[in-house]
Amino acid sequence: MDSSRRLFLAGTGSVVASAALAGCQKAPAIAARSPRRVERILHGIPTSDGDGVRLNRVIGQPALRNLDPFILLDRFHSDDPDAYIRGFPDHPHRGFETVTVMLEGRMRHRDSRGNHGVIGGGGAQWMTAGRGIIHSEMPEQEQGLMSGFQLWVNLPASEKFCPQFYQDLGRDQLAQGKLGAAGGRISVIAGNVDGLVGPVRERPTEPLLFTAVLEDDRLTSIDTPEGHTAFVFVGSGGVEIGPDATPVREGAIAILGGGRSLEVRAPAERSEILVAAGKPLREPIVQYGPFVMNTEAEIRQAFADYRAGVLDRG
Ligand code: FE
Repeated sequence: MDSSRRLFLAGTGSVVASAALAGCQKAPAIAARSPRRVERILHGIPTSDGDGVRLNRVIGQPALRNLDPFILLDRFHSDDPDAYIRGFPDHPHRGFETVTVMLEGRMRHRDSRGNHGVIGGGGAQWMTAGRGIIHSEMPEQEQGLMSGFQLWVNLPASEKFCPQFYQDLGRDQLAQGKLGAAGGRISVIAGNVDGLVGPVRERPTEPLLFTAVLEDDRLTSIDTPEGHTAFVFVGSGGVEIGPDATPVREGAIAILGGGRSLEVRAPAERSEILVAAGKPLREPIVQYGPFVMNTEAEIRQAFADYRAGVLDRG
């Protein structure tokens, strides 16, 4: 991969200092960066889902019901088979997309329409549930580390009943590269990070989604679409984010304020992050478990369709 990729913005401090010395209120370098500040930090809460899978719920917990367009973020990370082995037996979804990011381990999915496959370590699956799906997500391993994320991305009202669609993405299908001059790596699932274009096809929320490993304390600056909701989850280590160098530790999510870029560095240790940005839908959200619709009536219809065995029929 091209080692000259310009994800890296060196010497930010000196850029700011020289602009200040020049008395320039709108220095182009600063205006172009417009780095996002950390607006809020919180931790996931331990919970279990499926058939006793232990995980940390980051988005979708009482203190953060959703983060438009994101409905849920679960972090799973355990080398104890008891914490994951029973997986997620058959369950329905309607009205949104589920994104599974596997860092370590393997998960087999199988659905009511005959689709099946395995999501392996380093890979991802972007599943558009649309009008409805009933599926299972079961570990394909009996021991070892199972680590990753599941993110739920909402669909606009106009697409909640769209056909189901899978994008199973192996490690090699993700856009991987060096993190600029800093000694890190990035793996892009969706969106464009300085020319590294994730394989996920065009989605209504125009998502940006990637994982990165930061190896040293040099600053990385990554463009994030203006107006998008954006967050960083720190999977391991600790990072500093934004012009205030706000520290964010392992297990925490940093919700970012407005701006056009994410500035992040790992001042003390190798750190792993998940970054997501998406266009907010600004529509009513009525959620009941695995159904995410716009009205109560649509939720009742989802249950009725599920009971009648037609949830996944168009
Ligand atoms: Fe599911």
